[in-house]
Amino acid sequence: YTGKRDGGDQVTGPVLVTTAVDADPLVGTSVGEAVARGEFQLLYQPIVRLADGRLGSVEALVRWQHPRLGLLTPDTFLASAARAGQLSELDDWVLRAATREFAAWQRAGGPEAADVALNVNVSTDRLLTPGLGAVLVEATRAAGLDPALVRVEVPESLLVDQLHAATEPLEELRAAGYKVTFDDVGAGGTSLRHLREVRADGLKIDRSYVQGILTDDRDRALVQLLVDFAEGAGLVVTAEGVETDEHREALRAIGCRYAQGWLFSRPSALSELRTRFPS
Ligand code: C2E
Ligand code: MG
Ligand code: MG
Ligand code: MG
Repeated sequence: YTGKRDGGDQVTGPVLVTTAVDADPLVGTSVGEAVARGEFQLLYQPIVRLADGRLGSVEALVRWQHPRLGLLTPDTFLASAARAGQLSELDDWVLRAATREFAAWQRAGGPEAADVALNVNVSTDRLLTPGLGAVLVEATRAAGLDPALVRVEVPESLLVDQLHAATEPLEELRAAGYKVTFDDVGAGGTSLRHLREVRADGLKIDRSYVQGILTDDRDRALVQLLVDFAEGAGLVVTAEGVETDEHREALRAIGCRYAQGWLFSRPSALSELRTRFPS
């Protein structure tokens, strides 16, 4: 099988495609066993600078090549990994693999790739479990990667559910030189108070708002509000779910600096990513 799956990945090679998972993928196994069997893999999706179409960053997105169920996207296994208390173990594998793969890609890419950053997703479970900073420091050192190029994406819901518990671990990451980015802003229940109280370096506007900007004045106004806030507060702002030229043009008009979505690229093998996209 080669080509685009319904889930949106760009994959080549033999893949057993599953569209619906009725079974818990963790039944009869564990994250640790699947890691040991080499079943997890990472795809990477570009984050593009709208001003000139250059690659600004890549986001690592985990996939599970499950022996029975096929290639699984995270929505089919993150919740069961969390229920089993194994999500932190998976996130640690992702951090180590992503920093290693990305650093190798960057070295091979020469000056074009030198200032590209790496975005990695970290679950609320992982953030609130001690040791994240140590794992990251060890992983970036082993990879020879500058912490300032690593953007740790944390779910916006974290701010709502765990505001106080999250503040210290997030500050620790920033003190060690890593960048903190709020993911899916607008999808959960972030209030102005959260944006005011918790320090971050970036925010990503949830794709539900981005997809409304062409048809809904209120969505457009809210995207504008978030972009203006980010600009004023010195945060790197990225729009998610950019699927069409019209989305891109509307975002540029609003002053949004970075964009991510199928218009530019599906999640892909790192080796297949271009460093420049039509602007
Ligand atoms: P996310 O961090 O918000 O990642 C963006 C998701 O949107 C990805 O789904 C991506 O494939 C999808 N996407 C990108 N562009 C478009 C577009 O233009 N249109 C549409 N409709 N979708 C688009 P994916 O890879 O299935 O990941 C889903 C979520 O799983 C991620 O959302 C993230 O929250 C979580 N996740 C992924 N990898 C990891 C990981 O290593 N650790 C943890 N803890 N969570 C992860
Ligand atoms: Mg993310
Ligand atoms: Mg997101
Ligand atoms: Mg999202």
